[in-house]
Amino acid sequence: MNIPSELLEKIDEAIPHYPVSKRSASLPLLHLWQEHFGYVSDEGVAWIASKLELSPINVLELVTFYPMFRREPAGKRHIRVCRTLSCSMAGSYELREQIAKAAGIDLHGVGFHARNAGDDEHSNAVGKAAAVDTHNAGHGNPIATSADGKFSIEFVECLASCGSAPVAMVDDHFKENIKLDEAAALLGLQRSDATLPKLRPAHPREKRIVFKNIDREGWTNDIECYLHDGGYAELTKALGMPRVDIVNEVKASGLRGRGGAGFPCGVKWGFIKQDEKKPVYLICNADESEPGTFKDRYIIHQDPHQLIEGMIISCFAVGAKLGYIYIRGEFPEGAQILEKALAEARARNFLGKNILGSGFDCEIYVHRGAGAYICGEETGLIESLEGKRAYPRIKPPYFPAVLGLYQCPTIVNNVETLCDVKHIIKMGGAEYAKIGKPNNTGTRILCVSGDVEKPGYFEVEVGSVTMGELINDLCGGVKGGRKLKAVIPGGSSAKVLRAGEKYKLKDREIGLEDIPMDFDTLAACGSMAGSGGVIVMDETRDMVSTLNNINEFYAHESCGQCTPCREGALWMKKITDRVLAGGGTEKDPDMLKNVADNIAGKTICAFGEACAWPTQSFVLKFREEFTGKAQKAEPPPMPPEYTSDELIEHATIETILDRRTNSPLAPAATK
Ligand code: SF4
Repeated sequence: MNIPSELLEKIDEAIPHYPVSKRSASLPLLHLWQEHFGYVSDEGVAWIASKLELSPINVLELVTFYPMFRREPAGKRHIRVCRTLSCSMAGSYELREQIAKAAGIDLHGVGFHARNAGDDEHSNAVGKAAAVDTHNAGHGNPIATSADGKFSIEFVECLASCGSAPVAMVDDHFKENIKLDEAAALLGLQRSDATLPKLRPAHPREKRIVFKNIDREGWTNDIECYLHDGGYAELTKALGMPRVDIVNEVKASGLRGRGGAGFPCGVKWGFIKQDEKKPVYLICNADESEPGTFKDRYIIHQDPHQLIEGMIISCFAVGAKLGYIYIRGEFPEGAQILEKALAEARARNFLGKNILGSGFDCEIYVHRGAGAYICGEETGLIESLEGKRAYPRIKPPYFPAVLGLYQCPTIVNNVETLCDVKHIIKMGGAEYAKIGKPNNTGTRILCVSGDVEKPGYFEVEVGSVTMGELINDLCGGVKGGRKLKAVIPGGSSAKVLRAGEKYKLKDREIGLEDIPMDFDTLAACGSMAGSGGVIVMDETRDMVSTLNNINEFYAHESCGQCTPCREGALWMKKITDRVLAGGGTEKDPDMLKNVADNIAGKTICAFGEACAWPTQSFVLKFREEFTGKAQKAEPPPMPPEYTSDELIEHATIETILDRRTNSPLAPAATK
C-alpha cells in the first residue's frame, strides 16, 4: 500500500516513544491513520499490524474496542455531542436534534430508532436517547452522516466539560455552553471560535494552589512565562535531595490521590523499592472521564509545565526514567499543548539526559487514549498503554507498584496529584499538611455542574466548605431559585445524597447541606468524595430518567470482561428504559437492586461498584419515583426470547477479509 510520506514520517516518529514494546504504538498509529484517511480501513489495520509486527486481529480488536476509531468515513465535519448526565440536563439531546436538522441529517429516518422515550419534560433532558444502527461497526456510538457527506453527528459519552454544558467537539475543537439557536453555527465553526472560555476569577472562599495560574491575567502556557514565575525551581530543589526524602515529604504531607480512590500518594510511592533493579515507570493518568469531573483539561491547557515539573520530580523520587502522560483521546488540543511543553522542557534540559547536571536521565511522552472510560482504571490504563484492549487486571497479583507496565513496578498518579507534588516540595510536607484537615490535607478542586446558577470549579482547602456553602455561596444557589432535590458528590459513580436526609456522624447528626466536603465525612454519609465532581439536581428532576442516563453511560463503558458487570450494567439500563417507556412494574425497584447487588463486589475491577452504586442508591432513596411509574405488578418475561425489538441492540463484529478470496487475512499477506 502506498503510504503518504508525511504520514510515514509521523509514524516513524511515534514508534520510538515505546522503546520496550512496539505494540504500545498501536493506538498512536491508529490515531495517525484515522486523522489522515478519516477512518481505519481493513487495509489500515493490516498495514499497522505489519508495521508493528502484530497479527491484524491485534489491531482490529483495538478498533472495535475504542469508541473513537471508525471503520467507515465520517462527514467532512464531524460533531461529537456529549450525551452524559450534566450535558443532557443542559439540553444536549435537543441540541443534537437541532444540529442534525441544520446539517440535513434525519435522525429518525432509515436505520434510526429511539432507544427509549421519556415521559415528562425532564425526561427529555435526561432520559431520551436516539441512535442509528451499526454505522460505526465498533464499540462507539453510531454515527449519522448527511447525504452529501459534509457533516456527521455522533452522540458520545462524557467530554469532561460538565461545568460548561452542553458541550460538543467540532472536529478537534471544543465548543462549550452551546445555546440551542447556535446549533447551525456549529457547522461553520472556526477554530478561533472554539477556544477555551475564560474562567471567572477565584472566589474569596477558594485557596488556589494548583489552579493558581488558571485564568491569571497575562498568563500563557509557554515555558518563558512559567520560568518568569519561578517555574522549575522545585525541580532544581528536588534534584538536590535524596530520593527517599522526597518520598518522605510526600508521605508527611498526607496527600491523598485526587483521581477517585483517595489512596495516600506517599504510601503508594513507598511500595517502590529504593534499590529496585527492574525499570520503574511513572504514568500520569490524564484520562479524566468520570461524569461530573472537569479539571484536568484546564491544567493541561493553561498550565502544562506545572504538571510536567510535578511529574519529573515524581519520576526522580521513585526512580523512573521513563514516564507517560496518558491523556484521553478527546483532548487532542491538550495533547498538542503537552507535546509542545515537553519539547520546551527538553530544550532547557529539564528532561532528557543528565537533567540540570544531576546525573538523572528522564524522558516523558504523551500517549492518547481513544474514548474508553475504563482506561481511567489504572490497570486498564496500563493494558491500553501496552497496545491492548483496556481490560483491567486482577489484583492481586497485578498491583501496578509491583507488576505494572511491561510487568515492571509502575506508579500511576492523577494530574491534580502530580501537580500537588511540586507544591509539597516547595512548602515542605509538614507545612502542606497544615492545609485542610487531618487525614484530609491540602486543597481539592471541586467541579460543580447541573442545576446551580454558576457551575464551575473551585479549589478549596479540603473540608473547608460544606455542601450547602458550595452550592449556595460559591455556585450562587440552585438554579432559578428552585429547591435542592439531590446531589451526586464525587462523580457519577458516587452514591446519590437526598435533600432532607440526616447522617449520623460520631459526634453529631447533620443534613445534606451541612456535610463538609472532605473524604472521610462524605464516606461517613454513605457516599464518597471520589473525583471531586459534584452534580446538583433540583426539585424538578425525574430520578428514574437521571438514573437511566447514568445506566446508559456504564452499560456503554463496561469493558465486558466480567459477566456480572457486562450483563448487569446493560440489564439495569434496559429496566430503566422500560420504566421510562411506560412499562414500569411494582417489582422494578427490587429487581434493579437485585441486579446491582449481584454486580458490586463480584467483578475484577471497581467499575462493578461504580455502576452498581448509582442504582442501589437511587432505588433506595427515591423508591417512590420508581413505583410511581408502575403500570403493572409483574415485569415482562426477560430476554432473550420475549424481549421486544426495541430493547435488543444489534451489533456485528467484522472480520478482516481478503476481498478477493473472502477469507481471513494472514499476517504475512498483509506486508
Ligand atoms: Fe471490565 Fe466491568 Fe469487569 Fe471492570 S468490572 S473488568 S469494567 S467487566
